[in-house]
Amino acid sequence: MVAPTTQSQLIDGLKEIVGAQYVVSQAEARRKYASDQWWYAIAAAAAGESISQPDVAVSPASAEEVASIVRLANRLNVPITPWGGGSGVQGAANADRGGIVLDMKRMNRVRAVDEKSLTCLVEGGKICRDFETELNERGLSFTHYPASTEWATIGGSIAARGSGVLSTKYGKIEDHVLGLEFVTPTGELVHTPVVPRHAAGPELTQLLVGAEGTLGIITAAIVKLHLLPKRRVFGVVSFDNLSDGIEAGRRIMTSGLKPPVMRLYDVDAASHSLARAVETPLNAPTLVMMFDGEFPDLVELEAQKALGICQEMNAKLLPASIGEMWWERRYVFYYPPYAPELPSIWGTVDVVADFQHIEAVYNETTRAIREAVPAEYNLSLTTHFSHWYEWGSMVYARMKIPTGPADLKEAKKLHDDIFRAGIEAAYKAGAVINDHHGVGMRLAPYMELQYGEGMHALSRIKKALDPNNVLCPGKLAMSD
Ligand SMILES: Cc1cc2nc3c(=O)[nH]c(=O)nc-3n(C[C@H](O)[C@H](O)[C@H](O)COP(=O)(O)OP(=O)(O)OC[C@H]3O[C@@H](n4cnc5c(N)ncnc54)[C@H](O)[C@@H]3O)c2cc1C
Repeated sequence: MVAPTTQSQLIDGLKEIVGAQYVVSQAEARRKYASDQWWYAIAAAAAGESISQPDVAVSPASAEEVASIVRLANRLNVPITPWGGGSGVQGAANADRGGIVLDMKRMNRVRAVDEKSLTCLVEGGKICRDFETELNERGLSFTHYPASTEWATIGGSIAARGSGVLSTKYGKIEDHVLGLEFVTPTGELVHTPVVPRHAAGPELTQLLVGAEGTLGIITAAIVKLHLLPKRRVFGVVSFDNLSDGIEAGRRIMTSGLKPPVMRLYDVDAASHSLARAVETPLNAPTLVMMFDGEFPDLVELEAQKALGICQEMNAKLLPASIGEMWWERRYVFYYPPYAPELPSIWGTVDVVADFQHIEAVYNETTRAIREAVPAEYNLSLTTHFSHWYEWGSMVYARMKIPTGPADLKEAKKLHDDIFRAGIEAAYKAGAVINDHHGVGMRLAPYMELQYGEGMHALSRIKKALDPNNVLCPGKLAMSD
């Protein structure tokens, strides 16, 4: 934590940059930014042992103010951790080394909309839901719909490499981002090129995507927009077994069809969470699809073709109204009473692989998680494949232990054991350790496993860009 003389220089410097009313004292910062949404960060904060220990928090209003704050932090050698909505589930936004929490939410303007090219310049602290609402009023959509839409910011989504429920057609956040305005770890303001494609050297924009605040602070992004669809068509089917469902999904994706929503629930997820949300009994692997677009007849045709592929895999057609209800209630899964609360232990192993490996990844990951939990803890494990790609898919294994050990250290050990088992099994079966939640403190111990020699390259990039190691030190295991 920061020494008293540095602390007073820091506070004075920050007040000069943003104005006293936007500098939050240590005591209040430790309350307000005590934890993101990682189970352990929440549990530790509730036990009075918060892993986030900021010395101060500050809310800048412009890229220039962000740059001045970063230069001040370099002069005083104080860590900075950007904070978007604090909705991350991997522990990335916690200021575990103290220093400054940089709350980005005052930077929430839509600076420009280009209705001809369908692009938009939006600031990093804009909340996803607010952004979408404003665009919808103009008949436009950002099409990035994370379940945390009411908390997550544009900058946080880019930094954590997020994904939304429409990703199968419209892409993950990295597909939406065309260019960035960002502040480097030494305080320079950079604008990356924005054109449909280029060959003017490497793609600097993508270096910042998924960097979780370690390589720069995203002050604004140029993002791709879409027209609001004129028609949405739903299709729901169940399968005799999960393998048939995975094969149907593979055939749909490799045929060139583009469902924005394609979610395959295993029997546990279908019969527990999905059935409850759509108020329909379900007792087999179930696939929920949605097609959308500008031309209603084309949308209908796409849905028919996809359902035809499912029927080739012996699928049973279920009422489309289940899909409509799913759409209406698509976020309920993630909030009480569906979402767990303390004293439960919860978390999601979300991993991604190509079609060659995805079924083995599902089998091995879910098996390893089940084996890692002693029977007395009554593990609930519900798994679905929520995002599909042209050559693979992802596995979203959601675990919950209704009541974990009362002792925080023991509870943390159980949590870590489950994640170690799940992540190592997934990796061994051919997956990458995360699809869209990011790395954070939870998965940092697996970066070496994932990257091997590549970790040295990442660490050298970090060192070159951030010689004083001020931006999120230690995060992503890229620096000491
Ligand atoms: C109920 C619930 C549902 C969720 N559903 C989804 C979902 O559907 N899809 C999904 O992808 N995720 C989901 N998440 C996880 C989370 O919402 C995402 O990771 C989201 O992208 C985080 O955005 P944020 O603004 O809250 O970032 P934060 O949690 O504040 O920060 C995340 C990381 O980004 C860094 N950061 C934040 N802002 C900036 C910036 N401007 N510049 C540089 N670095 C920055 C932080 O330092 C941190 O490393 C869910 C979480 C919850 C609690």
